[in-house]
Amino acid sequence: MSENKDINTIANQLLNAQDNINNVATKFNRNTNSVVLMAVSKTKPIADIEAAYAAGQRVFGENYALELFDKQQTLSHLKDIQWHYIGPIQSNKTKIISQSADWIDSVDRLKIIKRIDQHAKALNKTINLLIQVNISNSPQKSGVSLDQVNELAESINELKHVSLRGLMAIPDNYEPNADGQRPQLKAEFNLMFTCYSHLQQQYPSVDTLSLGMSGDLNIAIECGSTMVRLGTAIFGKRK
Ligand SMILES: *Cc1c(COP(=O)(O)O)cnc(C)c1O
Repeated sequence: MSENKDINTIANQLLNAQDNINNVATKFNRNTNSVVLMAVSKTKPIADIEAAYAAGQRVFGENYALELFDKQQTLSHLKDIQWHYIGPIQSNKTKIISQSADWIDSVDRLKIIKRIDQHAKALNKTINLLIQVNISNSPQKSGVSLDQVNELAESINELKHVSLRGLMAIPDNYEPNADGQRPQLKAEFNLMFTCYSHLQQQYPSVDTLSLGMSGDLNIAIECGSTMVRLGTAIFGKRK
């Protein structure tokens, strides 16, 4: 594929994704700008991010600390990119993540959060946080359980250099039933929304519920997601 073809493809896929988001939001009586599209650019080259940026995309998600760091450095002239770190957090990577991320969407341990707060202080910045919830109780996934959210939120609220913005979850891949429905997925998304609503009543800074990927974004929007994370749908398959 030539470079121009790539650029057009990414721009088109962004348009299609945004169209779909707008349609689903409207169908469920939601404001079309109440759902933010995050472009997940992990493993994709700088040129792809530049193409998405040229098409107007500003919110990007990355999963690997060093990859995020390199990309953020290379693209530091694009000052209005909002970088989200959405991967698992190793404690020896908190510094490099804090240096390059505007948001960290996968916090689930106070020890790590305190480190992020200290790094943010040294960097003279405020880092936005989403608490990751392991909503399907998957042994191999990060995240707290729903009943641990309040305690962690209280602790975050006491720190000065991080701002609690909401919740994130990555549910299991539930196959549709004979009726084409995914009741378990919907139930889990609804639990997330209830927890998010309670949090919002307690903390005015909370405005983000990150639910929904390429395979489940319509249900996520139906259930109240304010941020969907799309990789493959924007940039194509990863190797
Ligand atoms: C990779 C990733 C995505 C994007 O997944 P796609 O299936 O490519 O859309 C979204 N969220 C998280 C946390 C991811 O790691």
